[in-house]
Amino acid sequence: MPASSIIQKLSRQVIDKVRHAIISHHKRSGRILFSDTTLRDGEQMPGATLEPHEKVRIALALQDAGVHSLDAGFPASSEADVEAIRMMIGVVTGPVLTALCRTLPADVDVADRALEGNPQHKRGVSLFCGTSPLHRVHKLNRSRTEILKIITDSVSYAAQRFRIVAFSPEDASRTEVDYLCQCYREAIDAGATTIGFPDTVGLLTPEKARDYIKAIQDGVPNLDRALLAVHFHNDLGLAVANTLACIQEGVNVVQCTVNGIGERAGNATLEEVVMALALHADQYQRRFSIDTTKLAPLCHLVAELTGVAVSRMKPIGGANIFATEAGIHQDGLLKNPDTYLPYRPEMVGGGDIQLVLGRHSGRRAVAHRLTELNLSATEAEISVIVELIKKQPKGTVVDDAVLRLLWSQAELSRSGRATHAALKI
Ligand code: MN
Repeated sequence: MPASSIIQKLSRQVIDKVRHAIISHHKRSGRILFSDTTLRDGEQMPGATLEPHEKVRIALALQDAGVHSLDAGFPASSEADVEAIRMMIGVVTGPVLTALCRTLPADVDVADRALEGNPQHKRGVSLFCGTSPLHRVHKLNRSRTEILKIITDSVSYAAQRFRIVAFSPEDASRTEVDYLCQCYREAIDAGATTIGFPDTVGLLTPEKARDYIKAIQDGVPNLDRALLAVHFHNDLGLAVANTLACIQEGVNVVQCTVNGIGERAGNATLEEVVMALALHADQYQRRFSIDTTKLAPLCHLVAELTGVAVSRMKPIGGANIFATEAGIHQDGLLKNPDTYLPYRPEMVGGGDIQLVLGRHSGRRAVAHRLTELNLSATEAEISVIVELIKKQPKGTVVDDAVLRLLWSQAELSRSGRATHAALKI
């Protein structure tokens, strides 16, 4: 064997040892690594296109929040994805940047060029190939054996160019368990450092998701050499629940998107998974490195740049999360905010608690707002204002200007200078 080949073989062995040590370290630490796919699966949803410079802004905000890796795009699918990744090199330096690839050497080459210049330990590829009977027969027209060869060939090709190589069997949740485990075993032997479990069409329940994870842990003996990742879609509204169930079962990496944007009903929502973990640390007993105070601003940034508005009721980022109109809740919140909130706004970097004045509001919230506006009112005047608010036509927003008007009318009413009709605005 020539000296150069011996050196190459030795350096390969050293790299393998380093890879193994890093993976073992991650596994022993029990830390949950957040992989964000807002810029790839999220951007893939109809109507959510992002310009490359907007992707960089979101990537920086995700870095600030502490995500471990970014699914930064699918370079072989679009030149704009290559451009966005190129703009991130040297700018987004914290998270690992990964590029999505089909199980094709050409896709790996495009990803290699897109990620050129990023340090080896901060760049990776994420390969996917359909493995379910539906994909094998109707999409790929390949046998189980043929697909296994495609997986092992492409993963080993990628492993010669990248230290971080993920492999995900697309439609894993509809793939036969024995075959799924075989795909994973062979992918790890070919050099995959992460194996992913995508619920591509979002049909699992938490119980079935856990069963899959247990089966993989039992059926993939070389899993000590790779991290296990999950990727859930929200077609049954269960993506977050499924992700949490798998965390309980010991997975290492969870892939999510901000605001849950993504194909069809979207993906597991990053901020919801994080807050469930943060509020139930006793249950999950897993560490993670997301700064919860960055979450609400992150949600707002993604909504603004994608143009995909979030529902008012959306957990963490929705407009109603720290706003209430109900009198009993307003009274409780004024006495102690914890009475009617699961967590304080400052924990997620949210705005102030808003006591919205409307038909359901009570005296206490009205009095509180009047005091804040330096408007003095007697008990009788407050009662008049509360009654006036209840009589407002549907859709009227009782903001400070309207409140001032009602206050002045209440004063007039008490001094007997207004007719009942004049009190209606
Ligand atoms: Mn997906």
